[in-house]
Amino acid sequence: MIDFSLRFAVFLGVLSVLLLWQWRRPRGPLIQWRQRWRHNLILLFIGAACVRIVQPLLLSIVALLSQGLGVFSLLELPFWLIFLLSILLLDCVIYWQHRLFHRVTFLWRIHRVHHSDPELDVSSAVRFHPLEIVLSLCIKAMVIGVFGIPLEAVLVFDIVLNASAMFNHTNARLPVSIEHSVQKLFVTPDMHRIHHSRDNLEANSNFGFFLSVWDVLFMSRRGCALDGDEHLKIGLPDTKTYQPMSFKEVLLMPFKIVLKHRN
Ligand SMILES: [Zn+2]
Ligand SMILES: [Zn+2]
Repeated sequence: MIDFSLRFAVFLGVLSVLLLWQWRRPRGPLIQWRQRWRHNLILLFIGAACVRIVQPLLLSIVALLSQGLGVFSLLELPFWLIFLLSILLLDCVIYWQHRLFHRVTFLWRIHRVHHSDPELDVSSAVRFHPLEIVLSLCIKAMVIGVFGIPLEAVLVFDIVLNASAMFNHTNARLPVSIEHSVQKLFVTPDMHRIHHSRDNLEANSNFGFFLSVWDVLFMSRRGCALDGDEHLKIGLPDTKTYQPMSFKEVLLMPFKIVLKHRN
């Protein structure tokens, strides 16, 4: 079973380092952090509870149905290669899942909770509606079953994905001297900020969470904001100033029409 304590220890370690980074070298002021942190932390606890309940159940069903069969089991490959391919495959699936959540209307209504954060910082990485977390677990379980992905790879990928999501939402920026080189392989805060723009064109780019290669390969990469980073407006796409005012509003976002605030 997925090792909860290892995941939790790495989560706390990475969180502490990134909090220190954004506290000592903030990219910009965080004016609404109190309300945002309250909403994001409640979502974190609900999401963690969903994972604790749903994930073991899904993995048991997958193990029962696939009985060790799967694309990787049929290929006679060494374990290290299966492990590496599994990480790449899982990250590619997350990329396409993210694109799908932007493309399909009812999925977008769920995913827009993530985009309704009016500022970005490390807490934004956990701002996902419980429905998105459960759907994401189902998609992952399907991929694990079809490909026969080893559970060690699932655990490592979960840890890496969580750490990189926290990293690329941090309210800080890498030194200019290394930003360009890091972007060639990994998603950076500079890249992911563009995905959180209120401008639809920018929000429909840079879908990656861990490796940046998928955006290059599938032509969704945007190197810089249309009007420059200093004019980038963070928030729900297609709205000018909208932001949920209560946690109830955050939770009900998938079921409500969000009014466009044009002023
Ligand atoms: Zn998105
Ligand atoms: Zn994000």
